[in-house]
Amino acid sequence: MHGIWRAGVNGHDIMLEHWTRVSTRSMPGRRPLSGQARVCHTAVLGLCVFAVGGSLLLRHGDDGLYMFGIKWPASCPLYQTLDVKCALCGMTRSFSSIAKGDVPKAAQFHSLGPAFFIFVCLQIPYRICALSARRSESRELQSAGNYVAVVLAAALLMNWFVYLGGLVL
Ligand SMILES: [Zn+2]
Repeated sequence: MHGIWRAGVNGHDIMLEHWTRVSTRSMPGRRPLSGQARVCHTAVLGLCVFAVGGSLLLRHGDDGLYMFGIKWPASCPLYQTLDVKCALCGMTRSFSSIAKGDVPKAAQFHSLGPAFFIFVCLQIPYRICALSARRSESRELQSAGNYVAVVLAAALLMNWFVYLGGLVL
């Protein structure tokens, strides 16, 4: 009796293992979520929540940004030493403006600020879904996300080169 019960359990395990292997093979883009992917999703989620949350809490003062009445310490070393803006200069102020619904002002602080803000906001539900699903997201979705990230990074560099060109010419 005991032996039969054991065989039954083992048989069930083998079937489960077989089913898992078949289902993984039939969905090549949906591998089980690896520990590394989990860490990556968590890190990006944390950063994006911090960025959006910070944008909502920052207030524009006469001489910079303030959070709970304390001056925001972040300042650009390149701008401070050489009086030249880096590729990200104005992004914090842009995020802070767009979080309060002022899109024109956000675009004034950084022309790509609104696009980056939307991208960062979309990361939050995307990463939560990725973490709650037991399998990795589809390859198509991953590729689309990577494609948008590369386009935004390229646009950021282009924007900066145009600005640098304007300084030289
Ligand atoms: Zn800067």
